[in-house]
Amino acid sequence: MNDCIFCKIAKGEIPSATLYEDEEFRVILDQGPATKGHALILPKAHYQNLYELPDELAGRAMILAKKIITEMKDVLDCDGYNVVQNNGSAAGQTVFHFHMHLIPRKEGDKAGISWTPGTLTPEDKEEILSKFSLK
Ligand code: 5GP
Ligand code: ZN
Repeated sequence: MNDCIFCKIAKGEIPSATLYEDEEFRVILDQGPATKGHALILPKAHYQNLYELPDELAGRAMILAKKIITEMKDVLDCDGYNVVQNNGSAAGQTVFHFHMHLIPRKEGDKAGISWTPGTLTPEDKEEILSKFSLK
């Protein structure tokens, strides 16, 4: 993964505004923040997305997200937090090294992390529930 920007940042080969680092992860401030304090959790090992991420690392990433936002909500005095994680370009992923977005929110801010609710039709419900079974 010689040309992966997040590999280089995570390993410290490119400097970054680092909030936290351990053997497995680096947590940095996003260079194009949705809101003040927007941070990214990067594993140091390269996995493209959540589908590829080993279960144990996925678990530790979520635990780390919990720790960081619990501390940061006091530092930033924010009112809420979005934890966002994009998989695939259709879902808005632009850097293909797994990462989690930690986005602090203030009441009334204009960060556009929302969607217009559609309708769960009987056909969609039937189709999805009949096709899906977790092995
Ligand atoms: P994605 O769209 O893949 O979920 O998110 C990629 C995020 O990485 C974006 O929010 C973007 O601002 C951030 N980003 C891209 N390149 C860099 C970089 O070189 N440094 C930092 N700190 N953030 C980056
Ligand atoms: Zn990478």
